Amino acid sequence: MAFTPSKLIWMNGKLMPWDEARIHVLSHVVHYGSSVFEGIRCYDTRRGPAVFRLREHVRRLFDSAKIYRMPIPYSVDQLVAACLETVKANGFRACYIRPVAFRGYGDVGLNPQGCPVDVAIAVWGWGAYLGSEALERGVDVQVSSWTRLAPNTLPAMAKAGANYANSQLIKMEALANGFAEGIALDTQGYVSEGSGENLFLVRDGKIATPPLGASILPGITRASVIVLAREMALEVSEERVPREALYLADELFFTGTAVEITPVRSVDRIEVGPGRPGPVTKRIDAAFRAILSGEADDRHGWLEPV
Ligand code: PMP
Repeated sequence: MAFTPSKLIWMNGKLMPWDEARIHVLSHVVHYGSSVFEGIRCYDTRRGPAVFRLREHVRRLFDSAKIYRMPIPYSVDQLVAACLETVKANGFRACYIRPVAFRGYGDVGLNPQGCPVDVAIAVWGWGAYLGSEALERGVDVQVSSWTRLAPNTLPAMAKAGANYANSQLIKMEALANGFAEGIALDTQGYVSEGSGENLFLVRDGKIATPPLGASILPGITRASVIVLAREMALEVSEERVPREALYLADELFFTGTAVEITPVRSVDRIEVGPGRPGPVTKRIDAAFRAILSGEADDRHGWLEPV
C-alpha cells in the first residue's frame, strides 16, 4: 500500500535523515527476526494533532521486549517523548508511527545477548490499510489454511517481528486467492485473528471476540472497542469462537491501528448478514471516530497532544 515517507527518523536518540537510518547486513535482526515493534496512529483532531493511546502502545513495546529478554536502553517516558518529537519534527498532522527495537550488529551467533539493542522511530503518512472502500463497504476474507502461532512456540502477546512471518503467510495466501485478508484459527481450531488485526462478531445484538488464550495480540483498538461498546450498554464477551460462528454472525469487523474498524462482508464467499456493514459496527465506528476527530470529548484520556 502506498505510503508517504517523512524527512527524519529517530534512531538511538537522534533524529537523522530518512535515507541515513541504516543498519549493517549482519545485524542479528536480519537473520533471526529479533525485533519488537509498535504501530500507532496520530490523528488530526479538532484540538490539533494527537496520538491515540501512545503510552499504552509504548508499554506494549516494553512488554514485548521483556518477553524476549531485550533490555531497551530508554524509559517509557523517553520513548513517549521521542515518538511525539518525531511526529513534530516531520510536521505531520496525521500519520502512522512505527517504533521498533531490535538486536543490532555485534555478534553473529544465535544468542542475541551479545548484540546491542537499537531503537528507531519512523513516521509516515498512511491511509486506509485495506483500501478506502474497505471502511465503507467491508472486505471479503477467507479462513486461512495457516494456523496462528502455537502458544508454546512464539508468544502471541509479544508484538515481535518474528510473529509476522506467520502473518505474511496468511496475508499472501489470502491475496493469492482473491481475498483482502485472512483469518487464522488457533491450534485448537478456534478463531484467532487476522494477519494484523483483531476480530469481533455480532449476533442478536451481542458482541464476542476471541480471548487472549486464542493466540491473539492484545490489541489496543480491541480494548478501546470493548470500552466503547460497554458504554453503549452492549454486551461484550471474550470467548472461544468456532469457525462456523463466522458464517452465522449478523456482523463481523476487524479492529487494529492500521485497519481501524473495518467491516467484513464475507468469509469464504459466504455473506456475513446481508453482506453490508451492520448497525452495531456502524455505531461503534461512529463513537470511535468521534473521539479520533476530537468531535467528542476525550473522556478516557486516549489522545496525547503532539
Ligand atoms: N493482531 C495483530 C497480529 C496485529 O498485528 C495488530 C496490529 N498491531 C492487531 C492485532 C491490532 O492491534 P492494535 O489494535 O493494538 O493495533
